[in-house]
Amino acid sequence: MTLKLKNSLGGALEEFRSLEPRKVRMYHCGPTVNQPIHIGKFRSYLLADVLRRHLERSGYEVLQVMNITDVGHLNEFEEDVVEIAAGRTGGYAWELAENEMRLFHADRRALGIRGAHEYPKAREHVDEMIETVRLLEEAGATYTEGGNLYLDITRYEKIGCLCGSSLEELVELQGDSKTTEGAQKRNPLDIDLWRTDALHQMRWESPWGSGFPGWHVECVAMSRKYLGEYFDIHTGADDNINPHHEFEMAQAAVLSPEGGDRDPLSHYWLHSGPVSVEGQPMSKANRNVVPVRELLESGIRGTVVRVALLSKHYRDNLDFGEAALDRASDVVNVILGFREHLAGLPAGADEADAPAAQWIADTDAAFGAALDDDLDYWKAISSVAGAISGLEAETVGSPARALDALGDWDRVLGIL
Ligand SMILES: [Zn+2]
Repeated sequence: MTLKLKNSLGGALEEFRSLEPRKVRMYHCGPTVNQPIHIGKFRSYLLADVLRRHLERSGYEVLQVMNITDVGHLNEFEEDVVEIAAGRTGGYAWELAENEMRLFHADRRALGIRGAHEYPKAREHVDEMIETVRLLEEAGATYTEGGNLYLDITRYEKIGCLCGSSLEELVELQGDSKTTEGAQKRNPLDIDLWRTDALHQMRWESPWGSGFPGWHVECVAMSRKYLGEYFDIHTGADDNINPHHEFEMAQAAVLSPEGGDRDPLSHYWLHSGPVSVEGQPMSKANRNVVPVRELLESGIRGTVVRVALLSKHYRDNLDFGEAALDRASDVVNVILGFREHLAGLPAGADEADAPAAQWIADTDAAFGAALDDDLDYWKAISSVAGAISGLEAETVGSPARALDALGDWDRVLGIL
C-alpha cells in the first residue's frame, strides 16, 4: 500500500509523493495563546501528529513547523485577543502569551503529541513579516488606506480554490462582519498586512508606521523562513480554510509568481473536521467549548483524550462526550492491559527461536493499510485492540515479539 491523502485543494484522494525523496516538510497553523486551547484545535494538532508519526514510521524524514500566534489575532471588534486577555488580568500581553504557551505545551505533552521541530512565535518574527510585506509592496500588490496597509485581493485569480467559493460569494460571506473595516478597504477581502496603532502594547517600527503585522502574514513569513517558499503539506482545522488559508495562498502567489501553474505555498492541504459536544455544534454561542485542560484537570487520562479526539476519521464530524471517552477508554485499556500481561510473562527458553505469531503479521498489515487510507487512526487502533481481544493464550506467540510489535504500532498510536 502507498499513502493516500485527501487534498482539500481539489478534494481528491491523492497518492502522496514528497517533493524531495524520503523527505517531508510540513506546516501547521498553531494556537493563538490567549486562553486554554479547546478540543477542536487539539483535534487538528492530532491530525498533524498522526500524519508526522505515520510518515516517520514509513521511512520519511520529517521537518515539522507549527507557529504560535501571540500578536495580531483580532476578534470581531478588531481588538488583539492576547492584549484583551492580558487586560483582564492587568498584566502584559507578552507575559500572558508566554504563560499560555507553556500551558499549551503541557496539554500537548499530556495528549502524547510529539514536539514540532520549530514553534516560531509571531512576536519574534516581525522582521521576517516586514520583509514579506515589503516584497508584496514591491510586487505592486498593496495599497495604504486609513493608515493601514492592505493586499489587493484581485491580484490573486484563484481566490476561493480551497473552499470552493467564488470571489463574489466570499465577499458576500465576509461583508457583514467586516463593515467598519470594509468601508476603508477597496474590497472587503483585501488582506491586512500591517496595522498602524500607536496604542498597541506589542508594536514595532516599520516603513508603514508604528504598529503590528496582520495575522494572515504571520504564517506566510514563518513558513517561508523555516520550510522555503513551497513545501509538502499544510494542515489546519477546517475553520482555518476560509479566510486564513485562502489568504496565505493569495500572498504566496504574489510572492512566487514563477510558480506558474503550481498552486502556491504547499502541495497538499489537510484539514480536520468540526467538533460537536453531546450532539450540539461546539461554539462560543452554544457555550459548550471544551478546553483540553479542563478534561485533564477533571482526572481524565491524556491518552484517553487523545484517542477520543481520534475516534472518528479526522475529516468527519466528531461528537465529543461520554460515548467518545468510553470508546477511547476501552481501547486504551485493552492495549495497556495486554502490555502489562506480556511484561509479566516469563520469557520462554526457546524465545529467540519462537516463530513469529501470525496475528502480528495480520494486524500489522491491517494497521498500515488503515493509516495509508487517508490516516484512519481509529481503524488502525481498533485493528490492534480487536486482534488482542481475540487472542488465546496459545496464539499470543513470543511475548518479546508481541511487545516489540506493540512498541512499533505505538510509534503512531502514541499511547504507551
Ligand atoms: Zn496559519
